[in-house]
Order: sequence, then structure tokens, then C-alpha cells
Amino acid sequence: MMSRDFSKLLEELAGEYSRHAPKSAAFHKEAVKYLVDGGSHTKRLIQPFPPRIASADGAWVVDEDGNKILDFWQGHYSNLLGHNPEVVTKPLAEAFEDGFGGQTGFTDRLQVETAEIICKQTGSERVRFTTSGTLATMYAILLACAYTGREKVMKVGGGWHGGHLWGLKGVGYQVGFEVVDSVGLPLGVTKDVVVTTFNDTEKLHYHFNQIGDELACFILEPVIGAGGLMPATGEYVKTARKLSQHYGAVLILDEVISGFRFRAGDAGTLYDVQPDLITLGKIIGGGMPVAAVAGRANIMELVGREGGRRVKFTGGTFSGQPASMLAAKTILSYLVENEESIYPKLAEISAKTRQAVASVFEDERILARFAGDQIYDIPNSSLHMLVFPYEEGQSLITPDEVKNPEICDVALCEKVMQLAMLLENVHVVHGLGSTSLAHKEEHIQILCEAYQRVAKRLKPWL
Ligand code: PMP
Repeated sequence: MMSRDFSKLLEELAGEYSRHAPKSAAFHKEAVKYLVDGGSHTKRLIQPFPPRIASADGAWVVDEDGNKILDFWQGHYSNLLGHNPEVVTKPLAEAFEDGFGGQTGFTDRLQVETAEIICKQTGSERVRFTTSGTLATMYAILLACAYTGREKVMKVGGGWHGGHLWGLKGVGYQVGFEVVDSVGLPLGVTKDVVVTTFNDTEKLHYHFNQIGDELACFILEPVIGAGGLMPATGEYVKTARKLSQHYGAVLILDEVISGFRFRAGDAGTLYDVQPDLITLGKIIGGGMPVAAVAGRANIMELVGREGGRRVKFTGGTFSGQPASMLAAKTILSYLVENEESIYPKLAEISAKTRQAVASVFEDERILARFAGDQIYDIPNSSLHMLVFPYEEGQSLITPDEVKNPEICDVALCEKVMQLAMLLENVHVVHGLGSTSLAHKEEHIQILCEAYQRVAKRLKPWL
């Protein structure tokens, strides 16, 4: 394994960044007095300190220092139209003006209309809303356990489904993914979480053969997020469907990232696979906190009167919150109505982004690739994890490869690139992030010029 030491470079970058964003630096000093590590989502808490954002519009965010930052994180991949798109913010502003939006505690027509869109576009029969992807996957797993009367839950290594009891195993890489990611978890739960390998059909057969009869569910992202922003192969998703059916386990497709990203609906459809349950979040909220579990009526009914409300997916003060539902209905209607123009356009700008970025690193003779670039099942993806493998021709089709520091320079992807690009006023996560419809060719040029300067700066450290 090559071992690159970036500690001096990171120190240098941190010093420059403190001068580049002095107000954010000062806010950070205050922030750590009151907030653990200065904020509330570790992915945002860039070291030495995060930019404190004051406003955002389209492809850009502006920090407290007045730095205009080109953003490829785009709300944890939730902004398909960029930040604060007028399509959503205008009706929201008008609704608040008219006395609609904050009246939590009732239900309204928007829930019905939004659920109808989700059912139609994802082939689901019933929907229940919640407020985060974490809660959605937790309830989906609870439903699967109740429906099957089983307790084992299978997921893939590197898959992030949120920080609930079943989700905190097999996320972080530590010589493989067979690790529990948090202390404080009940052993009874973690011992029942089985970790298999993304895009490894043979392993999937092996695990189903071993424990298929005991499995409540297999939860899978058709396009994995944190584990590499890369699609599953068609063979893998179809095998998952076949085996879960055969063994009577519930197939949950976690589409918190992939839902409405590649078409106006689920990504499962692109694989010709209908899961039993699907979880949605991010894009469906139009920038507001909306998530959902959807799927087969005979499973979903376990939360309802007909099923005796045996599964307590019954609360949530802000579930179906009216302003959030208005944002959800507005964005989903917009995506459905404009599907034929939106998705090809997004694919086009995404493909251009990848080509342009690849040629920057090629010109600089730095080995850089997009994770999953050997998988063609979802072409021209707008999700991009830029990784730095040590060897040419390396297979990069699973988190076990992409997150293995012996195969890819993970520190370069996750730490160095982010801070170095931030100094160029470009915000990237996992090497790059996601393209949105707010990203135009001029933004790709700015991105590439920034990468080029960073690549030149990196050269002596590689
Ligand atoms: N599932 C997937 C696939 C995710 O990417 C995430 C969040 N990144 C979650 C679930 C959890 O969603 P949330 O952050 O809204 O709780």
C-alpha cells in the first residue's frame, strides 16, 4: 500500500482557509461552546471549521465572509433544481402569506395529492410520511420484521440507511465492513444485522442460502450513496428480488437518494424490479424535511386500523407537516410534468461534468476515476464520487474497493480535496458530489479550473 502523508499539506490548507474565511473561523470558536463539534451533521463539519452559510441560490451558496461558493453537495443530494428554486419557494411564500403552512397537527389535501403521485410513480399501493430518511428506513425494517415474524436484517457493507439501531453496523470501512459503528447499541439488534457485499451476486446467494429463512428483509440502495455514489448492476438487483421472494424476506429498496433522481419515480423501475417496500426522502421534500415509506398494501396495513396498528409507525409531530407537504407536492408535480426535459438535461450536464473532470486529472497525470464507472446500468448518473485508485484498471464496483485505503487514497478523496477545493470557492463532498439542473456549462468550467489548480498543488504530495 502506498502511504501518502498529507498532514503538512492539510496544515497549510487549514492556515490559508482561516485567512480566506475569517468570519466562519470566528463563528466556529463560538459554535463549539454550544454545539458538539460546532454543528449538527458531521458531514458538514469540515475541518478546521465549516463555512457558515448565509444564503443560497441555484448552484451557489454564500458564506458569512461573502465568499460565493459553487456547491456540488446540493443539500445532501436533495436539490435536483439547485438551492431555493423559485418553483418551490414562491408557492411556499404565498402559502405562508395566506395563513397556510405552519398549522401542524391536522391533515390536509396535500398529503393525499402527494401520496397519490408517489404511488403512481413508484408502483406503490400505500404511503406513510415521516420526516427523515432515517425514520423511513427504521419503520420499513420494523414493518418487515413484523410482517415476516423474523428478526434478521441484511444490508450491504458501506450502505448508509440512517443512524437507527439497525443502521449502525457495516457503514464505516475497517478492514472490511463487519463492524458496529457506534457504541451503545443493544447486542440483540446488532447480532441480527448481517452485512453482505454490494454488487457481489455470489455473496448474495451465499448469504440467502445460509440465512434466507431467517431474514426479515434485505435493505438495498439501487444506487448506493455514501458507499460510492454508484449503481448496482442489473444482475445484482434482480437477484436480490428473486432471492428475497424465494425465501419470503421483504425487499426494501432504500431510495432516499435515488428516488426521483434518475426519473420521476423510483430507480427500481429502471431495473424492472418492484420491491415490497421503498423508502424515500431528500428530493421528494423539495428542500423541506419529508420522507416516506411506501409499498405493498398488505405490509403497510400493519401500521393502520386494518392491521390492528400492530406496528407503531403511528406518531411524528411533524409528519406530513403542511409547508413540507406543499413543497413535496410542488416539486413532485414539477418533476412529473417536466420529466421528459428534466432528466435528459440532467444526464447531459452530468456526462459533460464527468468528461471534463476526467480530462483535467488525465492532463495532470493523476489517476482519478468515478466510482462505479464500469457499471452501465444507470448511464450518465448525476451522482459522482471522485476517487483516487493506486492502480490503473482497478475494479471500482463496490464500497469494499472504493473505501479500502489500500486500493484508493481515501484521505485524498475525503479530506484533502474538500479543503483544497473550498479554498477555490467550490464545495465538493466525496471528491465531487451531485450535479443539479442549476449547474450549467459555465459552472463546469469553474469546477474544472479549480480542480486544475488543486491538481497542480497536489502533485508534489503524491
Ligand atoms: N438512506 C439513505 C440511502 C441515505 O443516503 C440517507 C441519508 N444520507 C438516509 C437513508 C437517512 O436519511 P436522513 O439523513 O434524512 O435521515
